[in-house]
Amino acid sequence: MAIREILTVPDPRLKDVSKPVEGGVSDDIRALMDDMLETMYDAPGIGLAAIQIGVPLRVIVMDLARDGEEPDPRYFVNPEILETIEETSPYEEGCLSVPDVFDEIERPRRCRIRYLNYEGDEIEEWAEGLYAVCIQHEMDHLEGTLFIDYLSRLKRQRAVDKVRKARRQKARDHAA
Ligand code: ZN
Repeated sequence: MAIREILTVPDPRLKDVSKPVEGGVSDDIRALMDDMLETMYDAPGIGLAAIQIGVPLRVIVMDLARDGEEPDPRYFVNPEILETIEETSPYEEGCLSVPDVFDEIERPRRCRIRYLNYEGDEIEEWAEGLYAVCIQHEMDHLEGTLFIDYLSRLKRQRAVDKVRKARRQKARDHAA
């Protein structure tokens, strides 16, 4: 397993549409998911899409366990949203590709999803609560959409500027 670099805005690769994984869940895909999980834990975050480490495949990892709870890694290959309910709820979202920016996003409260898990088994289930928020956020990444794309243009530009500035500062600190 290896920790990979997480792309941050305005990296254009974050706008790419990810391609389906062909031929089921191979050892290569499992190795990718292992790296993604390690990268996500290291960050730390609760969800990560493959494109966030520059791999344009429809693969997501997630762990919604709270501090002090047993780790609960979840793996999603070729996930699809089959159905959402009309009722929405707000949640203050963040993203490893937009570090230190948080804003309230409104999404459907529940969604029915289908995906292949780590073993390659097809799973179909309802997601709700934080699970529903997180899977919708991560699946947006597969379409090249970031949570800040739902904000006003001004707020979005501020978010990108903030990340850019922080990265420049980090580079300077490193050089000093
Ligand atoms: Zn994200």
